[in-house]
Parts: sequence; structure tokens; C-alpha cells
Amino acid sequence: MRSQLSLGTAMAALTAIVLTTTTTFAKEWLSGIKWDEPAVVTPGENNAAPSDAKVLFDGKDLSQWENGDRWEIKDGYAIVKGAGIRTKEGFGDCQLHVEYASPEEVKGTGQGRGNSGIFLMGIYEVQVLDNYENKTYFDGQCGAIYKQSPPQVNVCRPPGKWQSMDIIFHAPRFKDGKLEKPAYITVLHNGVVIQAHFELKGDTPFNRAPAYKPHADKLPISLQNHGNPVRYRNIWIREIKPVRGVLEDKKTDEKKQK
Ligand code: MG
Repeated sequence: MRSQLSLGTAMAALTAIVLTTTTTFAKEWLSGIKWDEPAVVTPGENNAAPSDAKVLFDGKDLSQWENGDRWEIKDGYAIVKGAGIRTKEGFGDCQLHVEYASPEEVKGTGQGRGNSGIFLMGIYEVQVLDNYENKTYFDGQCGAIYKQSPPQVNVCRPPGKWQSMDIIFHAPRFKDGKLEKPAYITVLHNGVVIQAHFELKGDTPFNRAPAYKPHADKLPISLQNHGNPVRYRNIWIREIKPVRGVLEDKKTDEKKQK
């Protein structure tokens, strides 16, 4: 009994030594990459734009949009009227925040109820539609990548309530007139993920299969006029830039390549 006890004590002591030694003398793994320091960004409160965002609509005017003067602006929001609008500036990889409200007065059914749309690069549509107790084809309902991918869930708020779309978009890349890398999109509707890194198959028309056509790396974003008085407010965008770093020495580089 005595020898068993002392053996147990010895094992515990040995384990403690090994653990302590491992913790104390373990060599830190280093990637060998000297990273640029991440910029300091002040986050916005209550969905306000972070400090490095570009505000595309602050509720006062649509001067950064072509056709913006055609929409009615009042009480801090803009109402879709007569034509679509598109940003004067082009954007590629981005994080886009948009708030909208479907018309309070419910008119129409299916695709005819609170229809609008957020077109990344003016080409790739995230559907905006009032699907609160209103059914339509699934790959055309609110938050769908139109005709390509239904939203994972339906998180529509009732008509008249303000809702948010947060979109993370990576633009497609083309090389020598051919698709080099498709577009990817992640969408959060009212804070809930409804598209998770979806690979787009091309553009999003109503009457044919999606297809890619080579275009620039940056193009205007547009908001669709579909004849329904959808309201928009608080629109801001951040460019997504890759993090940067350089390999500190060639040895690390060689190791990585093996
Ligand atoms: Mg639409």
C-alpha cells in the first residue's frame, strides 16, 4: 500500500514537471510573416457607419447616386420612385449595409409586393421583397440571390418595419476575357445569416440562365425600381482589402513551399 501511494505521488509529480516544462520552454511557432498593423476603426452605434465607411445615404440627399433626384426624400429616408438609382462611384469587394422598409400599406401578392433589389455591381441581385406572410418562388424571395439561391431562412419583418441587409461581397475576377474567379456573397438579413459564402453562377436575370460576362473590377451598386414604394435609409459601404504582410526571410518561404 505504501509503495503504491509513493508510486502515485511520484507519477503526479512527474506529470506536473512535464507540464510545467512544456509550458515554460515550448518554442513559439512563428509564421515568418511580418504583418501590417490593422488600422484602428471606430465602430458605429446602432448600425451607424464605422469610421472607415463611405456613407452612401445619410437620410438627407441622394447626391451620390445617379437618378437620386427622382426619388422622394423625407423624414430621413428615400422612397423608390420612377427609376432605379445607382452610385456614381464603382465598388468591387465590399461590405454593404442597407436598411429598407416594405410599404406599410400592403398591396399585391408574390413578386408584386414590396419588390426592389440591391444589385452589386449593378449586375448581381440580392432580392428585396415583402415576404412577411407572402409566398413566392423560393429563389425569388427576399434575400435570394435572384434565381440562383433562396435565402436559408425567411426573417422578414412585417410591412412598414425597418429591416437591414448586411452584405459581404467578393467581386468576380476576369482574365483574358475569361472568368478567373467567381463572385462570392454572404448576406445577413436582420442580423441572421441567409446566404453563406454563396458562389454566384453569373448575373441574375429573370428570363435566362445566369452567365458571367467580363467586366471591370469595380462597378456602381444599384437599387431597383420595381414599381413599389419601398423605403431606404442608412446606406454605407466599406471596401474589403486583403490583409498585408511580407515574408521576413527566405528560409520561411522555403519551408512553406515544401
Ligand atoms: Mg427585385
